[in-house]
Amino acid sequence: MPTYNTNAIVLHRLNFSETDRIVRLYSRERGKIAGIAKGARKPVSRLAGATEVLTYGRFHLAEGRNLDIISQVEVKESFPRIHQDLYRIAYTTYIAELVDKMLEEHEPNPDVFDLMLSALYLTERPNDPEKIAHMFELQFMKELGYEPELEKCLRCRSPLVADELQFSPSLGGTMCGACGPLPEDAVQISHAALEAMQKLLITEAPEVERMEIPPDAMDQIARVMRWYVRYRSERELKSLAFLQTLKLGTPKEQ
Ligand SMILES: [Zn+2]
Repeated sequence: MPTYNTNAIVLHRLNFSETDRIVRLYSRERGKIAGIAKGARKPVSRLAGATEVLTYGRFHLAEGRNLDIISQVEVKESFPRIHQDLYRIAYTTYIAELVDKMLEEHEPNPDVFDLMLSALYLTERPNDPEKIAHMFELQFMKELGYEPELEKCLRCRSPLVADELQFSPSLGGTMCGACGPLPEDAVQISHAALEAMQKLLITEAPEVERMEIPPDAMDQIARVMRWYVRYRSERELKSLAFLQTLKLGTPKEQ
């Protein structure tokens, strides 16, 4: 069996038989890979911790007929702070689910890999996990060719200066409120939210850390992106439903 090494992040894991685990990895060199970690359910196994969701490491695999076999992992980062905080877990699980559901197997995209890894490191640091998740969503959509129009009105092509702005997931971006008729899925969006989205779409990690987004603008971004991602992914994401419950259920800790 040919073997290979790859840098990868664990996207998803599933218990399989009494001792094994099936995992989906996102690797920089090979894209999404399905692998089996034999014995990983035994607490003494060296593969147990290494196959937790979000673990980043150097994976050694052997090519199998259906599943590649994970023989060894050198863990580079296990993101302990993320795992201690329910919000950080929820937002990063959402990032992992987006990558898992929206990408095909064996289609590498190093830019998406680097973006995901950077989002995980930013969430491990004392940043608002929601802000980082929105940065990821917007830049991920751009990488997949679904960049929303945030600079000009989709209808009249003028710069967005009107008081009342609308965002339509099905039209793919923003329009003046007066440029009707409005599509059914249009939601109102403030200039503050739009400006934050424009920045999150293009800004690199260090600057995102310094960005301050007012809470009401953040709520609008969350609503707009939730519908946009749902429209583009053509499915309901489990982690997103959980995030909503979390946000509505308990006051947010900073
Ligand atoms: Zn217009």
